[in-house]
Amino acid sequence: MPDRYAVIGNPVAHSRSPWIHAEFARQTKQDLTYEAILAPLDGFARAVDAFREAGGKGMNVTLPFKQEAFDLSGVRTPRAEQAGAVNTLTFEGQRILGDNTDGIGLIRDLEENLEFTLDGRRVLLLGAGGAARGVLLPLLSRGVGRLVIANRTVSRAEALAGIARAAGFEAVAARGYGALSGEAFDLVINSTSVSLAGGLPPLPPGVFAPGALAYEMAYGMGTTPFLRFARENGAARIADGLGMLVEQAAESFQVWRGIRPATQPVIRKLAAELPPLD
Ligand code: NDP
Repeated sequence: MPDRYAVIGNPVAHSRSPWIHAEFARQTKQDLTYEAILAPLDGFARAVDAFREAGGKGMNVTLPFKQEAFDLSGVRTPRAEQAGAVNTLTFEGQRILGDNTDGIGLIRDLEENLEFTLDGRRVLLLGAGGAARGVLLPLLSRGVGRLVIANRTVSRAEALAGIARAAGFEAVAARGYGALSGEAFDLVINSTSVSLAGGLPPLPPGVFAPGALAYEMAYGMGTTPFLRFARENGAARIADGLGMLVEQAAESFQVWRGIRPATQPVIRKLAAELPPLD
């Protein structure tokens, strides 16, 4: 019997994870299945238990359950603790191990796929939700020179800056969008969910330093309003979150199977099926 894995979320039908993990399994010749499980909004723990009792070995967790997965995990990795959320569950007997691979997924996409050096750079992180928290300390631990978190609800940005300072990172500031004028950044990451609704965070045009990379965490939407705005206002390069998605999946695959799949062919294949960044 092949080992069973799944992604669990609500909604989950749109998830590319089953396709990505099937590619990884083919490439690495691992005998496994990977399915998508729709959990009722009030039935996450029950759905996890049912999968585990049926012999499941591990799960990826997507919206809106990453916090609940954190609470359900009996043992958590340091990076899950830092993120305050779990996207990777591993079942070992009765133990549930919680991990978070989103942060390393973004770092690998930036450094390895996009060849962007984070050390010493000025970074603007838009948004202060779960995705922002998951990437905050991984970014800072790569030596970024300065990191500004901008959010509609400024208190949430301040809370994230507080987490960073408590972890020993001083070069962090929190702002409302209105207070961004006059600052320029080498990397601007949009971790808000505004793009999913076809919108744009209210950015001043001068935030992109010469040579800047604009990174949209959402994926599969072609050139979003944020990426278009970036291109029109001086960003030299644009990227979406497809690489991050595949890299976080590869890290989960490695946690479960102890083998690292090659990601670039999978990113290329998936990108060819999605609306292009024009
Ligand atoms: P959350 O719901 O936790 O956070 C949403 C953020 O968007 C908050 O900062 C919120 O601000 C902001 N926001 C929402 N609406 C508006 C608006 N109208 N104007 C300004 N700001 C707004 O979502 P997540 O952090 O979990 O996810 C965010 C994005 O990241 C999604 O697009 C998701 O698809 C993507 N993502 C991509 C991954 C990948 O692998 N590529 C992995 C994880 C996430 P406020 O605090 O003021 O409400």
